[in-house]
Amino acid sequence: MPAVAVTYEDGQYLKELYREWYAVPKGFKRVDEYWPVMLHVWVDAESKESHGLNVIGSIKGSTLPNEKVALVAHHDNAFGPGACDNATAVAINLETARALAALGAPKRTIEFVSVTGEEYGEFGSFAYVAKYVKPDPSAYKAALVMDIVGNGDHLYYITESICMGKLVQNSPQVNAHLEKVCDELGYVIQGTQLEYASDDGPFILAGVPTSYLAKLISNSWPWLHTYMDDFSVVDINGLTVMAEITANTIWQLANL
Ligand SMILES: [Zn+2]
Repeated sequence: MPAVAVTYEDGQYLKELYREWYAVPKGFKRVDEYWPVMLHVWVDAESKESHGLNVIGSIKGSTLPNEKVALVAHHDNAFGPGACDNATAVAINLETARALAALGAPKRTIEFVSVTGEEYGEFGSFAYVAKYVKPDPSAYKAALVMDIVGNGDHLYYITESICMGKLVQNSPQVNAHLEKVCDELGYVIQGTQLEYASDDGPFILAGVPTSYLAKLISNSWPWLHTYMDDFSVVDINGLTVMAEITANTIWQLANL
């Protein structure tokens, strides 16, 4: 089906014509019936093939170098600057790599993976999994995915979601480990379901015990996938907390 992108303002206007709101304005009676809206669209477009790149860094394990744990965040964005979705998670991935590299070699190898194409169907993580995980899935002891961690009042780990039309379940063991680390650090984290998987989906489908860490889990916040997702919505102190959690969790998983 051909798809066309319109500006955020035009999108809002169209939704108003449809009377489709995330939240019904106060004093307005919700109408649960739809009526046609006539729309003419002229599009002058050209399509071409494109490609993206995954970026991988690693700290080699000392005693079990062939066993791996991975910290994963996507670096592509849907529309707009993508500060919370998902540049802040990439920043945490880099900072975690910098901090852990100073501690010397862990038992297992730690991979810091920045993937492309999450917003268009987790293309980058599917490619990474096909190339590095599938030849020997049992080598991957755990993966920790971060998506949308730059703003929000609660810490969540995901318990299950949908990926490629399949129900995928996050690892209860890795989730329990996250809970233990948060407990040690004095933070509260809770489990929740999610409508759609992020980069955790491809790892779970390949059989890797995987957790997905998030701070906002609803798509009803106004700046998701818009030009408003810029530096001004980032909670800087919250990033420090998230980096503490990821660094401790991935380091402990690599040394179990
Ligand atoms: Zn994302």
